[in-house]
Amino acid sequence: MLNNTFRRLCRHLRETARLQSIQALLEWDQQTYMPAEASDYRAEQLACLTSMIHSRQTDPQLKDWLDELSESPQTDPHSDMGATVRVVRREFLKESKKPARLVEELTRCTSLAQQIWIEARKDNDFGKFAPMLEQVIKLRCEEADAVGYVEDRYDAMIDDYEHDARASQIGPILDNLRDELVPLVQTATGSGKSAPNGILHGSFPIPQQEAFCRSVASAIGFDFERGRLDVTHHPFCSEVGPHDCRITTRYDEHFLPSALYSVLHEAGHGMYEQGLRSDWYGLPPGKSGSLGVHESQSRLWENQVGRSRPFWQHFLPRLQRHFAISPHEFSLDDWVWAVNEVRPSLIRVEADETTYNLHIIVRFELEQELVSGRLTVADLPAAWNERYEKYLGLRPSKDSEGVLQDIHWSAGLIGYFPTYTLGNLYAAQLFEAAEKDLGGLDGQFAAGEFAPLLKWLRTNIHRHGQLYPSSDLISHVTGQVPGHQALIRHLQSKVDLFYRA
Ligand SMILES: [Zn+2]
Repeated sequence: MLNNTFRRLCRHLRETARLQSIQALLEWDQQTYMPAEASDYRAEQLACLTSMIHSRQTDPQLKDWLDELSESPQTDPHSDMGATVRVVRREFLKESKKPARLVEELTRCTSLAQQIWIEARKDNDFGKFAPMLEQVIKLRCEEADAVGYVEDRYDAMIDDYEHDARASQIGPILDNLRDELVPLVQTATGSGKSAPNGILHGSFPIPQQEAFCRSVASAIGFDFERGRLDVTHHPFCSEVGPHDCRITTRYDEHFLPSALYSVLHEAGHGMYEQGLRSDWYGLPPGKSGSLGVHESQSRLWENQVGRSRPFWQHFLPRLQRHFAISPHEFSLDDWVWAVNEVRPSLIRVEADETTYNLHIIVRFELEQELVSGRLTVADLPAAWNERYEKYLGLRPSKDSEGVLQDIHWSAGLIGYFPTYTLGNLYAAQLFEAAEKDLGGLDGQFAAGEFAPLLKWLRTNIHRHGQLYPSSDLISHVTGQVPGHQALIRHLQSKVDLFYRA
């Protein structure tokens, strides 16, 4: 009886997943190949699918099945069935607590806010954006109150991206991280040494860059029989079926790292998707975990692997041959230093690996203050600039390179930023655990062998889908609760190598 109910539930979820994958394909197309004139009709197609998906997700029948299944006491909460019921039920209950009026109002408000944000950023005029931001925060607070929370209203917002995470857990970790990062960055900037980053600039024809990026993605394990690489404005990874994962990048003819590191990053996301259980596609056992876990997979390949010396021992001679650069032009050490430069900057998306987390911490602190009412929107630009000066030693001279630089808040994404840093923390912990289990990763990378690491990630992370909450999964795999130490060890070792006397 119970099994029949579970079968019906799964059939329903699989059908919804098909619609969602069609939506993903349309969105991928919109960002890559769609002709400009097609945008109005594409918006209609997407709206049509969105409403079909929404009505399936809030189908009252779903509630009956979930109630019946969750009353069964013998189900292991981490089995395929137990996790499916737990995850789908939680999402169903959360969605059903949101008043339809509020959902509509938020959609309308954030769509308008994004348009106004684009203008305000262009005109460098925070005042133009401020009333919209106030409205977005007000509506997101109403939504948080409607769905409920245990400790902090902000927790209900984080929960949209990192289930069950709380500010009271993440806050102290990020405080510790900040307290160690600020002096670490100061060591680098105060050393008087600067990375030889001129060698990253030059003439790198786009077709050659594309071929090189493809060969690197393929070498680390991205499966091009089950995926693609295309061009877009803002790189992303999209999964449009159990054997169809699309990654994207953009090319700068004069600066190689732009495309190369975005491909490593997106390939990391893509290999996670390709490692999920395809027989459970679209259902919790075959779905990726939280955004933090997803980001840990991209960051691990981009930073722990792709900025390491052994990685470049293998790839630099290939890169030099590919772009016809003389091996005498610069050394391996110069190249590795150049891609590991530490230099504070104002723009988050251009930040290096070490200072990046300080950009996130500024946003994490400010959005909590905004949500709690301790900070007003009117005082936000001044608070932003002060915090940048304190943590990064730089003060934005205009809001377009300060508080107006990110799209997130205009899109209603409050509570999203910390998942970037959680991804970095998880990546560092996972990499240490993999090295402990496998040993000799450096030698493997230098020989161009990345399969053992990928296999380890498949076994320990990918195959679990959503069977466990993210922080439990990380604790279980690494033997340590999420914390800041592993990331600091990783970053510290580079500062010691390049910036100390
Ligand atoms: Zn990412």
